[in-house]
Amino acid sequence: MFPGQGASEEDVLRELEEKTAEDLTFDSGRILGSMCTYPHPFAVKVVQRYIDRNLGDPGLHVGSQKIEKEAVDMLANLLGLEKGYGHIVSGGTEANILAVRAFRNLSDVEKPELILPESAHFSFIKAGEMLGVKLIWAKLRKDYSVDVRDVESKITDNTIGIVGIAGTTGLGVVDDIPALSDLALDYGLPLHVDAAFGGFVIPFAKALGYDIPDFDFRLKGVKSITIDPHKMGMVPIPAGGIIFREKKYIDAISVLAPYLAGGKIWQATITGTRPGASALAVWAMIKHLGFEGYKEVVKRAMELSRWFAGELKKIPSVYLIREPVLNIVSFGAEELERVEEELKRRGWGISAHRGYIRVVVMPHVRREHLEEFLRDLREIVAG
Ligand code: PLP
Repeated sequence: MFPGQGASEEDVLRELEEKTAEDLTFDSGRILGSMCTYPHPFAVKVVQRYIDRNLGDPGLHVGSQKIEKEAVDMLANLLGLEKGYGHIVSGGTEANILAVRAFRNLSDVEKPELILPESAHFSFIKAGEMLGVKLIWAKLRKDYSVDVRDVESKITDNTIGIVGIAGTTGLGVVDDIPALSDLALDYGLPLHVDAAFGGFVIPFAKALGYDIPDFDFRLKGVKSITIDPHKMGMVPIPAGGIIFREKKYIDAISVLAPYLAGGKIWQATITGTRPGASALAVWAMIKHLGFEGYKEVVKRAMELSRWFAGELKKIPSVYLIREPVLNIVSFGAEELERVEEELKRRGWGISAHRGYIRVVVMPHVRREHLEEFLRDLREIVAG
């Protein structure tokens, strides 16, 4: 019920505390199945300070708009481009929708089709439905990366683009993006890479010597990339990123916003009013941590996930779905449903996929949390 009289801040906060007591929090270490994390304290500070900035009306917040452009350029730079075109958006879902929208608007196909791996995130289902684009699912190989030959066999005159994934949601697998890029160039199609998760992992993991396929704009067929700062970038939610190789993709999705207080603009994002603070936090975190800082974050997460995978292998009746590529470890077990239920009952925020349990070794996950989890898991599988 909408209250008649207001309550004191203290009373309202107390009620909030009570009501959120049942939430799992990232700092508890119990959330093992999320791609989000406790945001970096510096990014929180920046969001608080610039909470009023609205990039939906950038004429009012000219400085913030310039900072967003710089953030986009820094992300583009991380992904192998000198200059990129894009936005800091609400998350990977919006970023993927924008990419599909750009590909569709730039094609003159009547019944547009998009080819994407069976491992693609469900945000593409939303995109397909909203944009009237038929999704054509390509099979996976034994290693769970997309079968590039199957992708090729599905190209028709109606194809508007291809999607590859750099860090799949379930297993963290990186598709053979170099092969997809060659294919896209051969057929004159744009390739979108969904690196919502992997974007803030792969460049650093590669610098650390991990053997991971190339995935970014250095491959000429790649025309757009999703990269989410609110995942491994440690920026508060909402902060996604969409980067295009060329301006024509942004132009193709821009509509005129005529009445704004700051003057009329062309707007490409799905959201109108949108948080400038998010873009500023992305910019600030990149400046603050730099390549070396993020490399440290990724080093810890990669090492911990390798150790965790090794420990899982020692548990009878537990098996890895595949060797981890990034900092995502997914495993199956006998009586999986019972194991899942019991882990949840014991307060673990795990992510139960069809056929396996996924653990994402995010920055808030420490070795002692995983040790406790392993103790519980051992007990549960022993029945
Ligand atoms: N793409 C991939 C590969 C993802 O794993 C996710 C989320 O987990 C998304 C897109 C969607 O991101 P968001 O939840 O920020 O919209």
